[in-house]
Amino acid sequence: MAWSVVSLLGCLVLIWAIPWLDLRRSRPQTNSRDSFRENLSERPTLRLRSGLVSVEPQIRVGLKESPVAAFNLSVSGPFQVCDLTTGRVLWQAKLLHSCRVFVGDGGIEFGDRRFGTGAVEVIATTPPAIWVDQTLYRGVVRISPAAGRRVLPVNVLPLEQYLASVVDSEMPASFPEEARRAQAIVARTYALYQQSRSSAGGALDLYASTRSQKYRGFQYRDDKGRLLAGESASSRATVEATRGVIGTYCEDLFCAYYGAVCGGCTVDGQAVFADAAPPLQSVPCDHCREARLYRWQIRVSRKEAEELFRKAARRKGKTLGTLRTIQLVRDKVGDCRLRDERGEIELTGAEIRQVFSNKGLSSPRFTIREQGTDLLFEGQGHGHGVGLCQWGARGLAQKGWSAQRIFTYYYPGAKLADAGYR
Ligand SMILES: [Zn+2]
Repeated sequence: MAWSVVSLLGCLVLIWAIPWLDLRRSRPQTNSRDSFRENLSERPTLRLRSGLVSVEPQIRVGLKESPVAAFNLSVSGPFQVCDLTTGRVLWQAKLLHSCRVFVGDGGIEFGDRRFGTGAVEVIATTPPAIWVDQTLYRGVVRISPAAGRRVLPVNVLPLEQYLASVVDSEMPASFPEEARRAQAIVARTYALYQQSRSSAGGALDLYASTRSQKYRGFQYRDDKGRLLAGESASSRATVEATRGVIGTYCEDLFCAYYGAVCGGCTVDGQAVFADAAPPLQSVPCDHCREARLYRWQIRVSRKEAEELFRKAARRKGKTLGTLRTIQLVRDKVGDCRLRDERGEIELTGAEIRQVFSNKGLSSPRFTIREQGTDLLFEGQGHGHGVGLCQWGARGLAQKGWSAQRIFTYYYPGAKLADAGYR
């Protein structure tokens, strides 16, 4: 079998480094909300095309990636269960011990208590008090029946409270404050963009997992049963300091994708996401070099790799015979071309990553080398690599960059604005 060496590493826009690495405009780090807003006010005031929001939005977070057969629910204080459509109180009690929630013959059931066929809302008198499986949530929890006798729990809570958990869930508390402020702004922008795209009649705006952005609620129990904090005084202060601040492009929201470690340069968003706005350009970033996954390598036997390539091909509805060569498709980051005895098929780096992820393939940016009976994957970064690089934000903040400057570095052409609520 003839294997060709391929290079999937792409970092094409090095010229961006010149203007953006100018440190003369660095400002000292500040900790007060007022100072942050003074800095923000130096920028032009923007009015969103989609309109300002006068009241803090409520965000709807899907707690499962898809409807489930059942989940555990408990409430650690007084609560009501209401019909979501009519608001009618269906039940109220002082406490709810852990029970299974599922769809039975009588619609949604909590253990042996039935609530009919419509969606219901669980409202605690003093949140956070509602547990869904291993996580305690602020706000309310809506439960909607779905096809196939399944249920979907959705946490509905004020956006800024949600963000306090996202900041701690997405970025370690040990990261510098300005990096965490940039994270808060990006997460707020991402959430509001997703909400602007979701239908009002739909059940949710985004998911609690990395499918959207990580959200661990108020508290959660880990695999060993330890109770851990989903948010902290630190994350609440970070969110408060940036309250309402969002990123905009052409005076409107854009989808502010972000990732853990870009590994040398961020990825052009158009190569990965159909809705990538112009600020999602590739920019150089070696500021994440202290991350463990800045560079990585994994070894997979040829035989096993060929099976995994076949699996990726099948997912696209293609058939891969005996693999002969692999070649990079150079105009798209991470895409490659596999040739067998009959012809060739193309797989994106992301598609390859999906099937090799449990082998430790951390990003779609890698090279492949033949080494004995193995294939050696050598790669850079962790995640899709589009938009703000979290470890890069850490590096820049350590150099004294402000959250605003970090934000505009990773989203060239984007501006900060105030969403309009107080
Ligand atoms: Zn980076």
